Amino acid sequence: LKPTVVITGASSGLGLNAAAALAKAGDWHVIMACRDFSKAEMAAKKMGMPAGSYTVMHLDLASLNSVRNFVENFRASGSRIDALVCNAAVYLPTAKEPTFTADGFELSVGTNHLGHFLLANMMMEDLNNSPSEHPRMVIVGSITGNTNTLAGNVPPKADLGDLSGLLSGSSMIDGKEFDGAKAYKDSKVCNMLTMREMNKRFGGGKVLFSSLYPGCIAETGLFRNHVPLFKSLFPVFQKYVTKGYVSEEEAGKRLAQVVSDPNMGKSGVYWSWNNATGVFENQVSEEVSDDGKAAKLWEVSEKLVGLS
Ligand code: NDP
Repeated sequence: LKPTVVITGASSGLGLNAAAALAKAGDWHVIMACRDFSKAEMAAKKMGMPAGSYTVMHLDLASLNSVRNFVENFRASGSRIDALVCNAAVYLPTAKEPTFTADGFELSVGTNHLGHFLLANMMMEDLNNSPSEHPRMVIVGSITGNTNTLAGNVPPKADLGDLSGLLSGSSMIDGKEFDGAKAYKDSKVCNMLTMREMNKRFGGGKVLFSSLYPGCIAETGLFRNHVPLFKSLFPVFQKYVTKGYVSEEEAGKRLAQVVSDPNMGKSGVYWSWNNATGVFENQVSEEVSDDGKAAKLWEVSEKLVGLS
C-alpha cells in the first residue's frame, strides 16, 4: 500500500492541483475529502489523475456531524494515513449578512477553522498509528492573515480581539459587526494559530506540523463570490504589481512539496516561497505568534466542537 494523504477541498484550486501532483508522481495515494462527490470525481479525471491513484470520500466541513462521519468512514475503509492536509476554505468578501454552518457558526470561521479543528484533532489518533515514522499535518495558511506583510495590511485587517464573539456565538470572532472579508482573514489566523498550538502540544513526537502560504493563486474558485471587475483585474494586479501571482499548478506543486519533500520534515514551520530562491521558513504575524491567544483559541474551539 502506498503512503496516503487526505486533502480537504481537493475538488478545485490548490487542493486539486496538489492532489494531481502527488497522484501523478505515482508514489502517493490521495483521498480527496470533498463535499461534492461528482465535482471531485470530474475534476480528478480532468486533471488526468490515474484511476486507482485516488479515492473520493464525502466531507462537508460546514457540519460537525459530517466531520465525525468522515472520520468513521475513513477508519472503516482500513486505509493508512501518512499526511492530512487541511486546505478547504470559503471566502465571502461581498456578503452583507452572515451565513451559517449546520451547527450555527458563521460560515467562513465554521468551515475554515472549526470544521478543520475537529477533523485535525480526531485524526491525530490515526496519524499516531501511521506506518510512517513522521506523518505530517499541514494546515493551509495565508498572507492575508499576516498583518506583518503588505497584503496582510489591506483593510479590513485580521484581528481576533479577545475572542469574546467566538465564545458568545456572535458572527465575528471579535464580537464586532459582520464583515465577510475580515471573517475569512480571521479564519486563516485561526488556522495558523491551530498549527502552532498543535506543534506546542504534540511537537517533538511522531507527527510533524506545518502551515504555508502558497502564493497568490488569483484564479481559483476562492474568488468566485467576488464582483466581476475584481475577478478580471485581480490576476493582472498580482502578476504585474505585487508579483505575488502563482499559477494553480505551481501552487499545487508547492503544497505537494510540503506533504512529501524529505527536506521539509521540520515541525512548526510556516513555509513560503520566493520566486528567485524558492522555499523558506517565513515569519508569522504578531497575532499568529501570540502563544496566549493560541492557547485560548484552542480552549474555546474545543468547547465549540464538543471535544471538551
Ligand atoms: P478554491 O475555492 O478553488 O477551493 C476551495 C475548496 O474548498 C473547494 O474544493 C471547495 O469545494 C472546498 N470547500 C469549501 N467549503 C467546503 C466545505 N464546507 N466542506 C468541504 N469542502 C469545502 O480555493 P483555493 O484553492 O484558492 O483555496 C484553497 C486554500 O488555499 C484555502 O485554505 C485558502 O485559504 C488558501 N489560500 C488561497 C490563496 C489564493 O490566492 N487563492 C492564497 C493563500 C491561501 P467545492 O469545490 O465543492 O466548492
